[in-house]
Amino acid sequence: MKAHDGIYLDGAWRPALSRDLIDVVDPVDEQVVARVPAAGPDDVDAAVRAARTALPGWAATAPAERAARLTALRDALAARQEEIAETVTAELGSPIGFSRAVHAAVPIAVAGSYAELAASHGFEETVGNSTVLHEPIGVVAAITPWNYPLHQIVAKAAPALAAGCTIVVKPAEDTPLVAQLFAEAAHEAGLPAGVLNLVTGRGPVAGQALAEHPGVDLVSFTGSTAVGRVIGATAGAAVKKVALELGGKSANVILPSADLARAVNVGVANVMSNSGQTCSAWTRMLVHRDRYDEAVELARTAAAKYGDRIGPLVNAKQQARVLGYIEKGVAEGARLVAGSTEPPRERGYFVSPTILADVTPEMTVAQEEIFGPVLSVLRYDDEEDALRIANGTVYGLAGAVWAGDEAEAVAFARRMDTGQVDINGGRFNPLAPFGGYKQSGVGRELGAHGLTEYLQTKSLQF
Ligand code: ADP
Repeated sequence: MKAHDGIYLDGAWRPALSRDLIDVVDPVDEQVVARVPAAGPDDVDAAVRAARTALPGWAATAPAERAARLTALRDALAARQEEIAETVTAELGSPIGFSRAVHAAVPIAVAGSYAELAASHGFEETVGNSTVLHEPIGVVAAITPWNYPLHQIVAKAAPALAAGCTIVVKPAEDTPLVAQLFAEAAHEAGLPAGVLNLVTGRGPVAGQALAEHPGVDLVSFTGSTAVGRVIGATAGAAVKKVALELGGKSANVILPSADLARAVNVGVANVMSNSGQTCSAWTRMLVHRDRYDEAVELARTAAAKYGDRIGPLVNAKQQARVLGYIEKGVAEGARLVAGSTEPPRERGYFVSPTILADVTPEMTVAQEEIFGPVLSVLRYDDEEDALRIANGTVYGLAGAVWAGDEAEAVAFARRMDTGQVDINGGRFNPLAPFGGYKQSGVGRELGAHGLTEYLQTKSLQF
């Protein structure tokens, strides 16, 4: 696999000061496909300084100019759509069709949405005798995970650039190659030197150095709640703005009036998609006791259809973690109706599509984020019970409600403590604010709400 042996700094690929390297592994066959630099604190410092130097110039550009660069970025990504898909497949292991339809296509749409928003957003407003200016917050540190590797970068970089911020991206160790493609696209799009910088590196080294750097004004992090907590604390101590997109344990609530087969099939597909490595996945299916057995049977049949069609998990550590959760579920009394506590293949980090039935709300598999192709099916007695279970975790990122009547589903959704709810299978909307209630995070990404995260206000009184 093609890889740069440098970091993208101040408009060019330059050798890292650190000699450390990261092996990029194909999760399907466990072979090393490329090596990239593991940047150290000095590399991070150079990247932040480049971003600081570029800030006044970029912040002063007209929004129309930023929109033009973002359109060029969108086009550069679109021109590489197939290369992006192949790269994500190589480093994440997702089936090529999914890489094309989601890992490549969604970031192109999001980049396009910010090209439009940069041009149309009101960066000035009048409030009584004041003119309120919406100004870029400054230098942004973007620390991203591997699960949707390009989407997570674009969901931070595109609004940051639209706002007039400069940025240093630190992608996940497992998926640095598509991040390098992104930097290439940004270069082709004609972003001025230093506006976007990319340091590949390890979380506790490069990530931590970036999060702690005094030259960074906003840290935008997507990843585990454990790391998010530390980054939030560090940023808080430095009185620095922080945006955190963390874990989820989203509920798929199937009300008694729902089309059960459709709700279960879409629900299983939602969890198996990307091998369950989706923070917003509906990993808890809530079914009324009267329809519970039927739902479990439908879920078992749906999971069986996936068979070998889902990709592996990203690495051996995640595979072991997910298998450990399945074992724990069984040990705590859940019934394994599909899947296994053993890997289905000798090679590759695969886990079989797994359905756990008879899961009760206090079980570990009903409370903790598993991040694998594992669905827990829970029983509820009545609507109040369903609501209590749905809201009964520390998370609140997404969810779904199904009912015969849309108004009934909406009434339930209004009472859920969560950032997004899909009603009767509503489609993903790349302009809808995405982010968490409770410990799922702080801040929102995507659309106009995602843009305002990167702005701060200055009021002029007349
Ligand atoms: P995941 O479980 O999705 O890998 P992590 O929270 O471990 O989630 O990683 C998400 C991102 O955070 C990655 O880019 C990773 O390198 C980075 N990271 C991990 N540890 C730290 C840390 N201590 N400080 C800053 N960034 C970190």
